[in-house]
Amino acid sequence: MKFSDLLRPAGTGLYCPPGDFHIDPVTPVARAVITHGHGDHARSGHGAVLATAETLAIMAARYGGDFAAAQEAAIYGATVMRDGVSVTLLPAGHILGSAQCLLAWKGMRILVSGDYKRRRDPTCRPFEQIACDVFVSEATFGLPVFRHPPDNEEIEKLLNSLRQFPERTHLVGAYALGKAQRLIALLREAGHGETIYVHGALMTLNALYESFGVTLGPLAPATSDSGDKLPGQIVIAPPSAIADRWARRFAEPLPAFASGWMRVRARARQRGVELPLILSDHGDWDELTATISGIRPQELWITHGNEEALLRWATLNGIAAKALELVGYEDEEV
Ligand SMILES: [Zn+2]
Ligand SMILES: [Zn+2]
Repeated sequence: MKFSDLLRPAGTGLYCPPGDFHIDPVTPVARAVITHGHGDHARSGHGAVLATAETLAIMAARYGGDFAAAQEAAIYGATVMRDGVSVTLLPAGHILGSAQCLLAWKGMRILVSGDYKRRRDPTCRPFEQIACDVFVSEATFGLPVFRHPPDNEEIEKLLNSLRQFPERTHLVGAYALGKAQRLIALLREAGHGETIYVHGALMTLNALYESFGVTLGPLAPATSDSGDKLPGQIVIAPPSAIADRWARRFAEPLPAFASGWMRVRARARQRGVELPLILSDHGDWDELTATISGIRPQELWITHGNEEALLRWATLNGIAAKALELVGYEDEEV
């Protein structure tokens, strides 16, 4: 019996032959388990979908209620059977509803982490570390240069800038699912109680987060109907809107961008970002290596991202590792 009998990479994503289902398939399949709502993992058109209630709600919000022929809500920690394979979803700490998928069959345990991070996030359940034979990990920030600073330092940068430039609208680019809500929640924790203005593209997901108990405080649409140019206010918008005509309506807009990629100065410059905020929903080098060290799997499979350095690190640490080189899982923030 080999691990690849239980799970293997296919052109469509990860496939489990004995259970006859895919995990985060990139093309429509009969049976899918979806780890979380980001577009590269959650696509429409599958037959049956198993995911957390939050992920199902996110998919319905993005694709419409009929995004799959059948939907089954999984509860974190509860096991369901798929043709003799037991499937358990566990918190991944990435965004609301994000899950790792544990497969157990004939004494083998394979844990597919989806996307994950280890630092605290007020908008979702923390990553749960459990034992397994094979740990399947992403490696978006799998290079030692990626060490994300503490979140509160980045939030303080934004609040300091707001105090320093009260005449300018602070226009923060943040990915609409996950990052925007986390940014708002972190600002609230830092004591920023004022109204935060949001681009229309964020409203549905903000409301969805609130319906699952994530409190975001006073929000208002960033429309110019009133002619208010919102000086000294925070406006959150999808990254693409920051460089758009849309941004010109505000008072001397100060472009900021919340992303793990802001560690790379060239990327910030390229996008015309004046205030880069390093805020990531993916684990950095230390989080990835600490997680793998903590689990100590027999094998590490890397799905996508910067796998080279992590492969070398795993080998040096006595863990057999291989790159699956799955395609179609591009970080939406790049
Ligand atoms: Zn993701
Ligand atoms: Zn992803």
